[in-house]
Amino acid sequence: MENLLPFLFLLLFLLAGCKDNQTKNKPIIVASIPPYQYFAKEIVKDSFEVITLIPPGVNAHTYEPLPQAMKGLQEVAVWFQSGDLFEKKIATVLEQNNPGISLLDMRKTVPLIPFNEDTQFLHCEKNHCPLDELDPHVWLSPKLAIQEVKAMEVLLEKKFPEHRETFKKNTAVLIQKLKRLQEKIQEILPPNEQRIVLASHPAFGYFCNEFNCLQLAIEFEGKDPLPKEWNRLYKKIEGEKIAVALLLPQFNNKGAELIAKRFRIPAVMIDPLSPKYEEMLLQLAKAIAS
Ligand SMILES: [Zn+2]
Repeated sequence: MENLLPFLFLLLFLLAGCKDNQTKNKPIIVASIPPYQYFAKEIVKDSFEVITLIPPGVNAHTYEPLPQAMKGLQEVAVWFQSGDLFEKKIATVLEQNNPGISLLDMRKTVPLIPFNEDTQFLHCEKNHCPLDELDPHVWLSPKLAIQEVKAMEVLLEKKFPEHRETFKKNTAVLIQKLKRLQEKIQEILPPNEQRIVLASHPAFGYFCNEFNCLQLAIEFEGKDPLPKEWNRLYKKIEGEKIAVALLLPQFNNKGAELIAKRFRIPAVMIDPLSPKYEEMLLQLAKAIAS
């Protein structure tokens, strides 16, 4: 928790009225995670303040905000949500104190896939995973990110109709950027070859779906495999050619590192919550291809 304190003070500073002249009177838009902050910022540009709730390197799935973090959120106009647990805690308080706020759960803007369709979990070998386990890591597919961006723009237009033309123009530019990113990744990962990636945390299902990869995840529901399950995992990996082991800064990577060493798989650190969205996805594609 201690490493969150500087961030929370910053958040309070940003939100509690200590704004400098530049940020004064700018409507505040919140994005739960940095990639959505990036998309929102590209749509609204400088007439709005766009902040994220997740500090760098923090696991969004288990993030616990302090009660003070909610105080300043009373001024927020729009909140783009990732569907993480902490949002529920804040949203209940927030909707009472700030009834004018518009919330958009980004998972509702695209078709979701269950974890067991996009991921080969140890626990899911015989389709034993409940189907309501839907994968929330939508933004990591540029194709779906384009749909998300369109949905964000629709909400922002409704909320701030006076900015409609600017939003439309900026959104078109962002979508072009994302389409170029898609093309670049397709060049790096031609669809005729399926590649298998090992991930310490199953964040890459939608990316794999879009670019013909298969994700093999070590962790299930935030936990490492049990001892008896390691052997099954080893067996599974033995016959396969694994392109890369993906380590995530927010998660326990010991298992992935162990397997990478044992099977001589290159290991690469990728931050799925990076605010440098295009850069991060290109880095991911290159890591899988090499
Ligand atoms: Zn995740």
